[in-house]
Amino acid sequence: MPQFLLVTDLDNTLIGDNEATLNLIEHLLPHRDRFYLFYATGRNFDSVAHLLGFFQLLTHRPLLTPDYLIASVGTAIYHRSYPEPGWTKYIDRDWQRDKIAHLLHNFPGLIPQSDREQNPWKLSFYLSTKDDTITVSKIGELLSANQLACHITFSHRNTLDITPLHAHKGSAILWLQQQLGISHLPTLVCGDSGNDITMYQPPFYGVIVRNAQPELLQWYSQQQSDRILLSQYDYAAAILEALHYFALL
Ligand SMILES: [Mg+2]
Repeated sequence: MPQFLLVTDLDNTLIGDNEATLNLIEHLLPHRDRFYLFYATGRNFDSVAHLLGFFQLLTHRPLLTPDYLIASVGTAIYHRSYPEPGWTKYIDRDWQRDKIAHLLHNFPGLIPQSDREQNPWKLSFYLSTKDDTITVSKIGELLSANQLACHITFSHRNTLDITPLHAHKGSAILWLQQQLGISHLPTLVCGDSGNDITMYQPPFYGVIVRNAQPELLQWYSQQQSDRILLSQYDYAAAILEALHYFALL
C-alpha cells in the first residue's frame, strides 16, 4: 500500500544533474510500491516524452514511470498516455480563452509563444519588459476588470501562462488526490520556479531546490512555513534530502 505521494517538477528539479537523478532513482526504486509518483511540468506530453527519451539516451537508465503526469502547467493530466477527461471538464468552467486572447492582442511587451506551446486551456507568452512584475499585475487587473476568471503564472523571469482559474499544478494535485482517495497521504512537492508556487500552497511538505529561480525564492521569503524546506542541494539531490528530512524514506 502506498504510504506517501511524491510530486516533482521535471526541468531543473528532477532533471538537471544526471548523477543526482540516478542516485535518487537508486534510493527510490526498492520502495516503488510505497509511494505514488506524479510528475508536474510546464512541458506538454510530447515534450515530456522527448525529455524522458533523452535522459535514457544519455544515462542508459530510464526515469521512474510516474503514476500520473500533470503537463502543460496543470492544463492536462495523463494516466500513462491517456488524458483525463474529467480534469478537462473541471477546468473548462468559466474559461473564456477567445476573449482573453482578444483582450491581450497587442498588449505591450507580450509576445505569443509558438503554436506548440498553446492549447485550448493555455495561452503562453514571453514577456519582454524590464518591469516584469508591474506588467504581470497590469495584465491581472485588465483581465479581472473584464470579469475574465483565470490563473496567471509567471516563470523563469520571462514566461507567462494564462490558464483557467483552477488549472495549475497545485489544483491538479488536489483533484487527483481526491479522485484516487489518497488525500490523507503525506505529500511532498518539489520544484524550482514560479510555475511550482501553487504546489506549495496546499498544506503539503515541500522542497525548493537550491538552484531555484528568483521568483520562487522571492515568494518563499514571504512565507513563514516549517513545512517547506529550502534545500542546501541542487536538483534531484534536494528531493532526496527532503525525503529524509520529512522522514518519508
Ligand atoms: Mg522547473
